[in-house]
Amino acid sequence: MPPTTGVRMSLLQTEEPYFRIGEGKISGWISVILGALSVLGVLCFHFPDFLTTPQLRAAYTVDEMRTLLGAGMIFSAAFGVVTFALNRHKLMGAIGISLTLLAMWGGGASVQVGPRYAAPGYVGLDWFILDLLLSAMIFIFLEKLFPHIREQAILRPDWWHDSRYFLLNHLLIGVYAFAATMFAPTFFSWAINADLQHFVSSLPWVVQFVMAIVLADLVEYAIHRTMHEVKFFWPIHAVHHSVEHMDWIAGSRLHFLEPLVTRTLVLIPAFILGIAKEPLTVYIIFAGFQAGLIHSNIRWDLGPLKYVLCSPRYHHWHHSSDDEAIDKNYVAHLPAIDWVFGTFYLPKASTAWPRKYGTIGIPLPKGIVRQFFYPFQEQAKKIRPGTAKKPAA
Ligand SMILES: [Zn+2]
Ligand SMILES: [Zn+2]
Repeated sequence: MPPTTGVRMSLLQTEEPYFRIGEGKISGWISVILGALSVLGVLCFHFPDFLTTPQLRAAYTVDEMRTLLGAGMIFSAAFGVVTFALNRHKLMGAIGISLTLLAMWGGGASVQVGPRYAAPGYVGLDWFILDLLLSAMIFIFLEKLFPHIREQAILRPDWWHDSRYFLLNHLLIGVYAFAATMFAPTFFSWAINADLQHFVSSLPWVVQFVMAIVLADLVEYAIHRTMHEVKFFWPIHAVHHSVEHMDWIAGSRLHFLEPLVTRTLVLIPAFILGIAKEPLTVYIIFAGFQAGLIHSNIRWDLGPLKYVLCSPRYHHWHHSSDDEAIDKNYVAHLPAIDWVFGTFYLPKASTAWPRKYGTIGIPLPKGIVRQFFYPFQEQAKKIRPGTAKKPAA
């Protein structure tokens, strides 16, 4: 039996809703989601200093966001009407249209930017809206076009659970950015050499971009392997490994402390070497896209490039609970690093995918709050590191 058959059977969604054209469910969901995002977008206009990300504000204009908001409202209303016309799931159509009306009541596409405050902090609501729109469009399209598990529904089990992680991780971008920008200058300024920084920043930006990937992935490797092999850290990372259904949003399931530590530490080498802002920004965009891609339900193996770049199949094996793949494939970008340190695992056949995903033994609790407290509980200490996914003997 080929390995994929077992996966397909075990992950078959028998009770989950599927989207079929003509039912009104697709249009209903699009209407509700775009309506909700429109309301949130209007709120961003009213309270920009509390709800939007300063770094992102520098990358877009108010007019561009107004145009996007207007388009979101038009499509939300149009899909709501279509849902009614199809005469099914009318409640979703009604909710979508109501949300659009609420966004209009809040000012709609002509909403003015609210008064400015010296806010003590912010949540990245604009980052959530924009990344959700872009990621959903790209990855749902690719997952439907090149599915690994064809039967897996978009609304697979735990989709709502992981969507809340997606929301939380985006809202907290200010906390992560604050930690990252404070930590390196505070603790690593001693390591800066002006001549070296001048040399690095004068290199072609492609070279600096590649340097950023290699150095960040080396740090990522060290952090990731530590989390797997040091007993104290494993329960924090086990939250990420509790995912049993892989798709683009599954990678968002991360204990609050994990992105806090990872994002703070991965860019330290770039800070010390003085890699320029542009290649560093391109690296951050690349890393964000690849994080979605490698968790996605896309059957891409990347052909001969699979030894150069981390593919969905490569990272799916990291999430496998099959014995042979446990504690393997730690990198986020470059499998060569795993190969050098002896943790590379990728069966030759491109059809060889994991049989099952998730932690082994004592299951993790469900829910963001319970999973937040899980690493500090007595039960978590019963899981030993090394072959960390197995319960203590
Ligand atoms: Zn891991
Ligand atoms: Zn992962």
